[in-house]
Amino acid sequence: MPYKQDGAAPFRDISRQVLFAAPELGCEWRYFEMDAAGYSTLERHQHAHAVMILRGAGQCLLGERVYPVAAFDLISIPAWTWHQFRASADAPMGFLCMVNAERDRPQLPDAAALAALRAIPEVAAFLAPAPAGAAVA
Ligand code: MN
Repeated sequence: MPYKQDGAAPFRDISRQVLFAAPELGCEWRYFEMDAAGYSTLERHQHAHAVMILRGAGQCLLGERVYPVAAFDLISIPAWTWHQFRASADAPMGFLCMVNAERDRPQLPDAAALAALRAIPEVAAFLAPAPAGAAVA
């Protein structure tokens, strides 16, 4: 299912599929794929994620740090940790995300939380919008 693309939403050019769900395991595998320069929602929540990049490369914001990520990297996202994935400018990026089947709703950053994140230079650089003239799929 594609995310909505209404311009105001805090994500871009990303799709989500539930690949696997087993009640006896209590978890799901979802597969997300974003186009070049696409990104997931910046969010945090009580539940944790285990993410494995399967395709492409990009960057991951995790807490107050930004990491380069590429195929077969495993990223552990603890509870209540801000996170966002961004595909490189030149190729799609896809990842598997393991998550609890029953989970709390994500929180989005309010203005104060966003300001605190932007006060960290590497995070500010990660959050900056694409330069004017960049292709939008
Ligand atoms: Mn999440």
